[in-house]
Amino acid sequence: MKNNILKGEYMFSIKFKTTDELPEPSPRLIDQIIGQDEALNIVLSAVKNKRHALLLGDPGVGKSMMVKAVGELIEKSSTDFKPYTILAKPNLKNPEKPIVELVEGHYEEKVEIIKPSMVRQPPSILTILIFMIAFTAITSYLMKGLPDSKVLGIIATVSIVAFALAFVIIFLTVFGATKGSMSNAVSPMDLKPVVLYECKKRPLVRASAYNVTKLLGDVKHCPLGGKPPLGTPPHKRIILGAIHEAHKGILYVDEIKTMPPEVQDYILTALQDKCLAISGRNPNSSGATVETNPIPCDFTLIMSGNMDDVNNLRAPLLDRIDYKIVLKNKMENTQENRDKLLQFIIQEIRNNNLHPMTYEACCEIVKIAQLLAGSKDRLTLRLRRLSNIIKMANDIAMGKNIKDIINEMSEEENIKKSETLPVNVDKDKLKSIMGVLNKITEKDKENKEEKEKTGITATDKTKYSKKEIKEKEKIYIDREHVLSVVNTGIYSMTKQVAIDYLRNFKRYKNIVPNDSPKVGVIYGLAVLGSDGIGDVTKIITQIVDSKNPGTHLLNITGDLAKHSITLASALSKKYVSEGKLPLKSEEEIDLNSKEIYIQFSQSYSKIDGDSATAAVCLSIISSLLKIPLKQDFAITGSLDLNGNILAIGGVNEKINAAKEYGFKRVIIPESNMIDVIDSEGITIIPAKTLEEIIPLVFENTSLKSN
Ligand code: ADP
Repeated sequence: MKNNILKGEYMFSIKFKTTDELPEPSPRLIDQIIGQDEALNIVLSAVKNKRHALLLGDPGVGKSMMVKAVGELIEKSSTDFKPYTILAKPNLKNPEKPIVELVEGHYEEKVEIIKPSMVRQPPSILTILIFMIAFTAITSYLMKGLPDSKVLGIIATVSIVAFALAFVIIFLTVFGATKGSMSNAVSPMDLKPVVLYECKKRPLVRASAYNVTKLLGDVKHCPLGGKPPLGTPPHKRIILGAIHEAHKGILYVDEIKTMPPEVQDYILTALQDKCLAISGRNPNSSGATVETNPIPCDFTLIMSGNMDDVNNLRAPLLDRIDYKIVLKNKMENTQENRDKLLQFIIQEIRNNNLHPMTYEACCEIVKIAQLLAGSKDRLTLRLRRLSNIIKMANDIAMGKNIKDIINEMSEEENIKKSETLPVNVDKDKLKSIMGVLNKITEKDKENKEEKEKTGITATDKTKYSKKEIKEKEKIYIDREHVLSVVNTGIYSMTKQVAIDYLRNFKRYKNIVPNDSPKVGVIYGLAVLGSDGIGDVTKIITQIVDSKNPGTHLLNITGDLAKHSITLASALSKKYVSEGKLPLKSEEEIDLNSKEIYIQFSQSYSKIDGDSATAAVCLSIISSLLKIPLKQDFAITGSLDLNGNILAIGGVNEKINAAKEYGFKRVIIPESNMIDVIDSEGITIIPAKTLEEIIPLVFENTSLKSN
C-alpha cells in the first residue's frame, strides 16, 4: 500500500480496523454523490431555474443517481406546488375525442373503473334454463303435433313466448354491445370521469428513450374479448405519458441514443407548447382513431447518455437544451478524495446490506480505483463498476461460510466430478477453477477453528435471523475477497476474455525472458481489449541487402510500420553520425537498398497504435547495424522524430504483463511514471529519449549516450 500514497500521508484521514466502526452515511441521496460537485451544482441550478439539461458521461458515473437526488429534493421543497388531478371524460358529441382535463387538488367524486353495462356478459343460467325447457317443449310438440287440450295449448303458447324471449335476451347480451354506441347504449357509469393521475408532490418521472408508449402515452386497443373489455369507452382506455405525469416537475429520459427521431419531434412540440394530445400509437388498433385534446405537460427535461450518444439527438431538440453537463470519470488521488471513496464504500455496504469491510480491503478498493483510472494519481469515478466489485467480494466472503454449511466436500470428490463432465468442457479452465476452489477450501479449513470459537454450528444457523448471523459470525469483506474478484476479472467481460486469452496462449508463446542478446529481437507491450490486461509481444526484424528493396510486414499495420521505419532510418543515421552507434558506411544504413521484414510474432490481431514505435525502431536499428539487443527487458513508448519517448496508455497493465512473463526490467516513458501504481518485483526504467536507452539495451556496452 505504501506505493499508493504520498510520503507522510495516510491512506484515509480516519483510522479504523473495519468499516462498522465508521459513522453511518447520510440518508440523503444528494450527500451520497461523490466526485461530481461541479456537475451537481449545475444540475441543481438548472432545475431551480426550470432549465432543460443533458447529462453526459461514461456509464456508472452517477447520472441517474444525480437526477434521483434532485427528485428527492424537489419532492421535499414542494411549497409552491399545487397538487392536481388529471381526469378523462367522455365526449358525447364525438366519442372518439375524449376530453382530458387537469383539475387542481383532489377530485372528490372519485369513481372506480367498473365494467360498463354495454360490455358483453355471459347469458344468465336462468335464461339458458328457460331457453332449454322451452326449446325441448316446442320440439316435442312439433314432433307430436299441438295438443288438443286447452290447458296444454296454453302451456305450449307460454313455451313459445318464453323461447322467443330467452332468444332475444341471449341475442342482445351476445351481440348487443358490439352495436352499442355512446349515444344509444350509454350507462351512467360510462359518463363518469376517470381519474388518470393524481399528483400530490412535485413529480420526477423516469422513462427510457425507446419506450414510446411510456413516454408519450397511448390509447388502448378495444379488442373482441380480452382487456379492456369490448365496448370500453375511449376515455377509459387512455394511458397517460411520462411527459404528462411529469407536469410541473422533472421528466428524466435516459438512454438517449435509443430515442427514435419522431419521438424527439413530439418531445420538442411538448417543450414548445407545454401540452401534447394523446392518440393511439398503433395504426392497426382501434385506439388509433381516438385522440384527446392537448393535455398540459409543463416539465423540466433532463436527459442522459454517453458522450457519443449526442449524435443521435436532432439539432432542434439539442438547441432547446440549455445545459449540457459532462460528468467526470476520474478524480485526483488525494486524501480528501480517498476519504470520499471510503464514504462511497460505506454507502454501498449500508445501501445493499453487505458485510463490513476491513481496512486492508478498503485500501485494495482504492488501488482498484487507481487501476481503473489508469494512473496512480487518479481514482476512477465509474463507481458502478466499483460497486459491483464490492458486492462480488461480499458474495465471496459469504460463500466461504455457505460452503461450511452445504458441504464438507473433499478435494478428491471435486476432481472426480470434474472428470465426469462433458468432453467439451475446457479441462484447463476447469483445473484453474478447481485450483481457486481448492484454495478456498484450504483457507476454509484454516478458518474453521476460529469459527468454532464463535459457537455457531451449521444447524444453529437456522435458529438465527440473517441479521443475527451477520452479527455473530462477524463476516468481513477482506482483502483476499476483493483480490479474488479482481484476479478472476468477473467484473468485466473484456477482462475475462483477456485473462482467458492470456492463460491459454502464454504457455505457447515463444517468449524467453532474460535470454542471451539477439539481433533484431525485442519485446514490446500491448493491452488487450478496452479495459483488458497487458500482454508481451515479440517483435522480430530482419534486414537484408536486396536488389528489390521493400518492406514485408507480418501482423503489423502499414502505418505503424512505415512510421517506425522512417523514424528508425532517420534516428540511426543521426546516432551513427554523432558517434553514438558504431560507425557504418552510408550505404550500410541506407534502408532504400534493403528488404525489411518486420513481424509481431504470435500476435493474432494486427497491432496498431503507436505505443510500439520505440520498440520497433530499436529492433530495426539492431538489425540494420547488426548489434544484439539485450533480452532482459520489455519496452513501451511512442517515439517522435527527435527521438523523444512520449506517454502511452495502459502503463500499469503493461508493467504487470512484463512482470508476469518474468522480465527483469521494463522501460516506460518518463511521463508515465506518475501513473505507475505498483513497482514491486520489476525494475522500472523511465526514459525520456531513445538516445538514453541505447546504452541500456544494446549488448555492446561501450556505446555511450553523450
Ligand atoms: P449512470 O446513470 O451514470 O450510468 P448510476 O447513477 O446508475 O450511473 O450509478 C450506478 C450506481 O453506482 C449508483 O447507484 C451508485 O451506487 C454508484 N455511483 C455511481 N456514481 C456515483 C457517485 N458519483 N457517487 C456515489 N455513488 C455513485
